[in-house]
Amino acid sequence: MRVRVLDDVCQGHTLCAMAAPEIFKLREEDGHSYVESDEVPDDKRDAVRRAEIGCPERAIVVED
Ligand code: SF4
Repeated sequence: MRVRVLDDVCQGHTLCAMAAPEIFKLREEDGHSYVESDEVPDDKRDAVRRAEIGCPERAIVVED
């Protein structure tokens, strides 16, 4: 599984970082989310899916 955040869509609600803090980090300057690595460990898949579903802006793109 791979994941990325659409920076031009993200509004910095932080919900993704609460759902999967090991995956989604927030930039200090604008609060937007980013991922340090787009490869999702198997044990983080469910959390990433929850973040994807919970993102109000649909800014999280998951590819299996
Ligand atoms: S929940 Fe969505 S809009 Fe909010 S910070 Fe995360 S990716 Fe951005």
